[in-house]
Amino acid sequence: MLTANENRQAEVNDLARESYRDITLYSAAAGACSFDLSDNTNLWGAPPAALRALATVGPAEITRYPVAFEPALRKALADYTGVSPDMIACGCGSDDVLDCAIRAFAEPGEALCVPDPSFSMIPVFARTNGLRPIAIPLTRWLDADVDAMIETGARIIYLCSPNNPTGTAFSRKAVEQIVDRAPGLVIIDQAYVEFGGDDFTDLASSGRPVLVTRTMSKAFGLAGLRVGYGIGSPELITEVLKARGPYKVSSLAERAAIAVLANDRDWVTERVNEVIANRTRFRSELASRGIGSLESSANFVLLPVNDSATTARKLERGGICARPFRNLPGIGDAVRIAIGPWDIMQRCLDALEEA
Ligand code: PMP
Repeated sequence: MLTANENRQAEVNDLARESYRDITLYSAAAGACSFDLSDNTNLWGAPPAALRALATVGPAEITRYPVAFEPALRKALADYTGVSPDMIACGCGSDDVLDCAIRAFAEPGEALCVPDPSFSMIPVFARTNGLRPIAIPLTRWLDADVDAMIETGARIIYLCSPNNPTGTAFSRKAVEQIVDRAPGLVIIDQAYVEFGGDDFTDLASSGRPVLVTRTMSKAFGLAGLRVGYGIGSPELITEVLKARGPYKVSSLAERAAIAVLANDRDWVTERVNEVIANRTRFRSELASRGIGSLESSANFVLLPVNDSATTARKLERGGICARPFRNLPGIGDAVRIAIGPWDIMQRCLDALEEA
């Protein structure tokens, strides 16, 4: 007979296998393409300060453990976000922070409510922590459905603004209403906040159980180093860190992240401004070719299409790897395309025209 843990494991396996297969598939497709526009990373390359910091690593940073719970990085992130260091928890990407927060604030068997469509890893993290994910469709304006999400009674409500994969930002009104009425923790995933939409850091400082998660994988160009963080009250952050444990950010990642926060904020701002300009230009070029796209506050745009697999294959033939989605609620099939330097976007337009 299966034990409870094995039972849960069996249930998790299907989802985990699916997400593992998807990620492996996209990585392989991306490897075969000249341009990978499938994962919304910074397509201008690494920030120079990160490269300089990594080129001057000393042996102690390799042979010794990092300082536990990365106080220097938390101080640098606190300075960047305008909160105190005890309000920051870092992780191996914001994936790690999300996973740990879910584990810290709900018991196995409880529910986690997630908008649909939204970040595809959330139901996986919910299940691997023994929770029941409940998907609630976005409203027709692609906002969070406040009443429906609250009515689930879920212990954790996850919101994502700007939302992946739609690119749309949730309204402050909807987010504030959910925070006011939620019975438990509200997670607001702001992985793309540098590119648009409201910044909800103030809600993390409001005394309510709110965790805002952010990342250095997107605007900051450090996806390979895996640095993400959460912002919340000191009490809430302590619980996240307890669920996480020490030494989850490597010395090298910490060193590079601190260097970028200290010396390359202008580089990041310039890249973000280019994304915003290219996003507007790309959408208007699409429109002039009769191709619709959703309004975006992120560093990607979502194009509803008839058959996402066919469109993605045709883009691949043009050297572009995009992320296909099948039958998204309220949207249907769609392809998500990251925004990068204009010559890449022009290649993408040419490939789409062929498609
Ligand atoms: N949240 C959202 C909405 C994302 O799209 C991603 C990356 N795809 C993440 C979190 C995780 O990013 P990371 O672990 O690199 O910080």
